[in-house]
Amino acid sequence: MIKVAKFGGSSVSDAEQFKKVASIVKADPERRYVVVSAAGKRAKDDNKITDLLLLVNAHVQYGVDCASLLNTIKERFVEIARELGLSFPVEEEFDRFANSIQTETPEYVVSRGEWFTGQLMAEYLGMPFVDAADVVVFHHDGTVDMERTQVRLREAMIHNGGSFLLPGFYGSTVDGQVKLFKRGGGDITGAILARCIDAGLYENWTDVSGFLAADPRIVDNPRGIHRITFEEMRELSYMGATVLQEEAIFPVREVNIPIQIKNTNAPDDFGTIIRETANEHAREHLITGIAGKKDFVGIYVQRAHMSNEIGCIRRALSILERYGVSVEHIPTGVDSFALVVNGDDVKDTIYSIVADIQRDVQPDSINVLPGLALISVVGRNMSRRAGTSGQVFGALGEAGINIRMITQSSQEISIILGVQNEDFEHAIRVIYDRFGDTVIVKER
Ligand code: ASP
Repeated sequence: MIKVAKFGGSSVSDAEQFKKVASIVKADPERRYVVVSAAGKRAKDDNKITDLLLLVNAHVQYGVDCASLLNTIKERFVEIARELGLSFPVEEEFDRFANSIQTETPEYVVSRGEWFTGQLMAEYLGMPFVDAADVVVFHHDGTVDMERTQVRLREAMIHNGGSFLLPGFYGSTVDGQVKLFKRGGGDITGAILARCIDAGLYENWTDVSGFLAADPRIVDNPRGIHRITFEEMRELSYMGATVLQEEAIFPVREVNIPIQIKNTNAPDDFGTIIRETANEHAREHLITGIAGKKDFVGIYVQRAHMSNEIGCIRRALSILERYGVSVEHIPTGVDSFALVVNGDDVKDTIYSIVADIQRDVQPDSINVLPGLALISVVGRNMSRRAGTSGQVFGALGEAGINIRMITQSSQEISIILGVQNEDFEHAIRVIYDRFGDTVIVKER
């Protein structure tokens, strides 16, 4: 099996981290393709090279001298090369780059973080360096030209004897203009590479051992999630539990390549495997994970005999559409409905939105309730299993927590609860304590 191993910024932040990467890559001959981010933070208060390069661009834009900033960046690379005894001419190459910043595009400047890190890592691992600008092809609108990219990556595969290092985060248009992915986009490069060369596994090496079943700032020592489906992961990430750049999922999901999140600093930890289906085990946890976010707003609209009318909800929704506000949930009653939206999205417009609903829907009453927190209890094993939601509500009731809203995703893989912001952490702890470790035995 071919594996693509992508290492994030903190995994390549200094010479010590380079050594860990090398021992991980060498430990498994199937790890034949490596993708790297730009060197990231070595400690909490350190800087990511990418952030420093963005700062270089700001200096250039405002005509401010940035010699010392460039020197800080150069030193990071020089130090790695020196400590590892590498022969790549990093000083000359960096000086050449520094002299070109006035004439190069901002994207090119930012992409050099990955380029330099990649050059050094390629030499250290003894792998050929393939420049992403030659193989990751962008359309001018910033999307990836998958067909061309696949052809080029496959050529590179043959050319380099079935193994190479590719810097993440950038590529170029056919006429050679460097383009970048979103921040954190090295994950996307890794996924595209895995897809284009038909890898059997996409390993994403970072500084955590995968997804946790709950936020460790709220729950003490939550268990790790070993297996999760893409769908469950979307539910959890949407509620704030992110480990991976979201867009990195699609290229591999479409062709059914699993992703494994691994920890460079604890390589023996299992991490998390994300794949399309994950039910090959007879004993599994009832819930996969819990995540949530605070500060939603509920707009409650009530109008007598609304159930006999057509179009009330549509009118209210088109108002939100006009304001560019996305709707999270629409709980409905017979003669009422609520629109649950992100508080941030309506902080400047809520009064106008209410006035417009008043005019277009003519409700008997309309109430705006801020401070709503949403909690998503996610688990593929909850579906078609009677009683789970009842138990969740029971546990919250016993703890004296009032549930203000309930919805369930249509595939029954998540139950979403609305509680007061003040009850948020308590509610998560209650649910986790009751169900976090519950194991079910599946019929085969
Ligand atoms: N270096 C880029 C960033 O900091 C991309 C990445 O790390 O994946 O966003």
